Amino acid sequence: MISMTRRRALALATALAAPALLPGTARAQANYPNRPVTIIVPFAAGGPTDVVSRLVAEVMARDLGQPVVVENVGGAGGTLGAQRVAQARPDGHTLLIHHIGMGTTPSLYRRLAYDPVNGFEAAGLITEVPMTIIAKKDFPANNLAELVQVMRQRKLEVNLANAGVGAASHICGLLLQAAVQTQVTTVPYRGTGPAMTDLIGGTVDLLCDQTTNTTQQITSGAVKAFAVTTSARNSALPNLPTASEAGLPGFEVSVWHGLYAPKGTDAAIVNRLSRALQVALRDERLIARFAELGTTPVSQEQATPEAHRRYWQADIAKWRPIIQAAGQYAD
Ligand code: ASP
Repeated sequence: MISMTRRRALALATALAAPALLPGTARAQANYPNRPVTIIVPFAAGGPTDVVSRLVAEVMARDLGQPVVVENVGGAGGTLGAQRVAQARPDGHTLLIHHIGMGTTPSLYRRLAYDPVNGFEAAGLITEVPMTIIAKKDFPANNLAELVQVMRQRKLEVNLANAGVGAASHICGLLLQAAVQTQVTTVPYRGTGPAMTDLIGGTVDLLCDQTTNTTQQITSGAVKAFAVTTSARNSALPNLPTASEAGLPGFEVSVWHGLYAPKGTDAAIVNRLSRALQVALRDERLIARFAELGTTPVSQEQATPEAHRRYWQADIAKWRPIIQAAGQYAD
């Protein structure tokens, strides 16, 4: 038989009633997350977006008290994975880590099965990663000036790998061809992880990719590097000149990453995610690993929904006129 005093019965009744009295957002946060969280990476495993996402997911899982699983949904320049998240239930259990493609896709793709601007809630920026211009080991150029010459002479005979239209490698490749004033053959992959495998194997010639995928391969000599695409040299690759130093003045491109939830996700959940992201970005092991890969986490203020939204909107506005003027669309 179950019996209880009047005081206990009253306390139990109050406890049971409490969740119903909480405002909707507080209730959403109190129950969140109640099962494993999935982060969709819209590129293949082993590439730079994947590497960053797995490092972040590991620490976020500890803070959220639930497993955070990374799932790779590559293809179509990152739009397949982004679509999956835009169409997911907005309960904070399906998230997206994407990159600069969130700024370029709204202009590059005129027809998409999801809304690339209003389909997401921004939860926080993660990092801004330099790129490097690299080639297969036996490519017949030993510096950027020689690369420019070979690209101009051999044109379409030269293969440049990328991760599809709208990917960072695609944009960097377009800028490179414009700067060199020539056109080469582009070879799309589902991400630059597999593109790197083929570059090391020698089946493609060139790649422009984030240091988070290239630092180790450059340092070990598995690939040849010509330049880093930021205004200053990178401390993980101190001997590599900037593109400006090496002969392409003003050639600069870096790749920002952010964390997103589907549109309509409760603000309390988005804020909870932002706090978990902030914990990840001040984790010493993560910071050290980022440094080895040539990058740094953004500040805690930038890892917030407001700062991320502002940055993202500004990036969409920055790319729109450039893409329209180039007339380069994905469809
Ligand atoms: N770095 C890739 C890009 O070119 C994507 C990736 O595999 O992370 O956008």
